[in-house]
Amino acid sequence: MPVFLPADTAWVVLAGVLGLLVGSFLNVVIHRLPKMMEAQWDAECAAHLAARAGQEPAAPAAPALTLARPASRCPHCGHGIRWFENIPVISWLLLRGRCSQCKAPIGWRYPLVELTTGALFAWCIHHWGAGTAGWAWCGFSATLLSLALIDWDTTFLPDSLTLPLLWAGLLAAALRWTPVALHDAVWGAAAGYLSLWSVYWAFRLATGKEGMGYGDFKLLAALGAWFGWQALVPIILASSVIGAVVGIALKLRSSLRPGGYIPFGPFLAGAGFAALLLGPQNMLGSILGLLGL
Ligand SMILES: [Zn+2]
Repeated sequence: MPVFLPADTAWVVLAGVLGLLVGSFLNVVIHRLPKMMEAQWDAECAAHLAARAGQEPAAPAAPALTLARPASRCPHCGHGIRWFENIPVISWLLLRGRCSQCKAPIGWRYPLVELTTGALFAWCIHHWGAGTAGWAWCGFSATLLSLALIDWDTTFLPDSLTLPLLWAGLLAAALRWTPVALHDAVWGAAAGYLSLWSVYWAFRLATGKEGMGYGDFKLLAALGAWFGWQALVPIILASSVIGAVVGIALKLRSSLRPGGYIPFGPFLAGAGFAALLLGPQNMLGSILGLLGL
C-alpha cells in the first residue's frame, strides 16, 4: 500500500536521511582533516629545511592521506570496513558497537555524530523549508559540528572549514538565503573577528599568555556573517556560560587535560547551535533558564 506524506514531511524525512549520510562523512572529516593538516605541515617543513640545506626534498614515505583514500579500516586490526558495515547508525547497532573482525569497540561518538547531523538537517528543513535557506542552514550545521569536534579533539580550527563558512555566510546573506541583511552580515563578520582579536591581544599583553587562537576569531567572524552583528554579544555570552559549565563539570570529574586547557571553539559552536535552534535573541534567556539561573 503506498504511503502518501504531505510534501513537507517527506522533505523533512529525506533531509534526516541525508543528514545521517553526511554525518557518516563528517566522522571521516573529523578524524582525517587534522591528520592531513599535520602531514602537510611536516612536508612543508621538510621541504623548507631541505631547500635551505641545498638538497632535494625527500619523497614522502607513504601515499598522502585524503578524505577519500584509503578506504576506512578498523584502527585496531586493519580490517577493511565493507559497505554494509558502514550504514549510518544501523551498522553500529547491528555490530553492537564492535569491529566485526577483532571485536574492538567502535566509539559511540560515530553513531552520535550521524544522529546529530540527521536531526539538525531534519530540523533545518522543517524550520526553513526545503528551499535554499533550509539547505544553506544544513551546510552551516554540518560545518559547525565538524569544527566543534575537531577543535575539541585537537585544539585546531582548520582554515579549510572556518573560511568557507565565513564566505558562505556572506554569500547566503547577499543571495537573501538567510534572513540577515548583507549589511548586518558584513559588520557581523568584521566585528566578530575584531572583538576576539582585541581580547586576545589585551590578554596577551596583560599576562604574556595566549588565551585563544586565531581560529576562534575566524569562527566568530563566520557566526557573525550567518547571524548578523546583533547576535555577537548573545553568542559570546552564551559560549562563556556553556564553557564555564563544561569547565566546572570537567574540573569536578578531574578530567581536565594536562595544563587545564579547554579549547574555546566548541563553546562558540555550541552558542552557534543555540542561536540556530532558539534564535539569537532568545537563546541566552533559554540557556540560563535551563541552568535554573
Ligand atoms: Zn578490528
